[in-house]
Amino acid sequence: MALSNQQLTQIQTQGIRWIEPGSLGLTRTGGAGPTDHKALSFDSQTSMIPVFNEQIQRSPFSAKQDANNEQVLIFEHEKLIARASMPGRPKFYELTTNDGIPYWKIATLHSKDVLATTVLQTCVRYRNRDTSCQFCAIEESLNAGKTIPHKTPELLAEVARAAVELDGVKQMIMTTGTPKTLDRGAAVLVESARAVRAVVDIPIQAQCEPPDDDIWFQRLKDAGVDALGMHLEAVSDRVRKSIMPGKATVPISRYISAFKAAVEVFGKGNVSTYILAGLGDTEDEIIAMSLELVELGVYPFVVPFVPVASTPLEHHPMPKADMLDRIFSQLGPALYNAGITSESLKAGCAKCGACSSLKSYEQEVAHGPLALRV
Ligand code: SF4
Repeated sequence: MALSNQQLTQIQTQGIRWIEPGSLGLTRTGGAGPTDHKALSFDSQTSMIPVFNEQIQRSPFSAKQDANNEQVLIFEHEKLIARASMPGRPKFYELTTNDGIPYWKIATLHSKDVLATTVLQTCVRYRNRDTSCQFCAIEESLNAGKTIPHKTPELLAEVARAAVELDGVKQMIMTTGTPKTLDRGAAVLVESARAVRAVVDIPIQAQCEPPDDDIWFQRLKDAGVDALGMHLEAVSDRVRKSIMPGKATVPISRYISAFKAAVEVFGKGNVSTYILAGLGDTEDEIIAMSLELVELGVYPFVVPFVPVASTPLEHHPMPKADMLDRIFSQLGPALYNAGITSESLKAGCAKCGACSSLKSYEQEVAHGPLALRV
């Protein structure tokens, strides 16, 4: 029994309905990143699978635990198609700071070995619907008391050390809401990375909007950042203005100039961007932008859009698997031929690869059709 690239793409675009969700300890967490997902490990690859939101109730895929509570059985309609395991609760989640802050409010485990944090859990664009990104729920987890507004450098260093020592995390991803300052978050990422690297040797990806001055890229690098993500999310002005009007005030031309300057500092492939397929950009627009970025040495991490509850887009349709399959079938070989594969990156979402099946399409070029063993 094997899961093909196409089946993984279908599962990530349609989600999985959980039979007896209570028995799996499923809870929604809110916030940035893959908030409405569950990590499932298929052989060596761990993928984030959408499990919440009303559209998933129409998915042909469902899952339940086996009789021994050891594996997750995945069905398409009634037919068993795959077996997976769920990464366990990390040990560092049991710890608290001297001030009584649980470590899981400071950083969380993504996939199976990525430590992720949102340094500033507020965003200058968020509270005004004229400027906020309509897919984002960054302040919802804060409102729900599940995180803290600012993870200081000291807190991040404390948690990162524990996550490495107790759970063997392999990389750290630091994103941030955008502050009012012109550096657009680069300054807090510099101080955060410096503090973490002072106590533990772990690759770090920082994520922010393009800062006003390219000097920040070298400052980030000097602080210990290995890779940088600056996320377009949408690739056409049409979609950017309608879905993310605040972020769209930073034009695509500035993203391109920032990408070029950042590649000079971090190297080919260690600059990346998230592209959310399904927001309204056409397949051709996404492919054209992605191939342009690959030429620049930027990894376009194309991810199927998954609506998050409590956002203006919570009822927005999820993208069709066929569209993602066609995009990935062009992009996977292009990345492989350019020598910027997920495996070769130092850190970041594209290295983790759990939120998109794109990585499998790259590997197919290298190893032939990939079937994830189940
Ligand atoms: S791809 Fe990025 S957002 Fe998705 S699980 Fe990995 S680190 Fe988290």
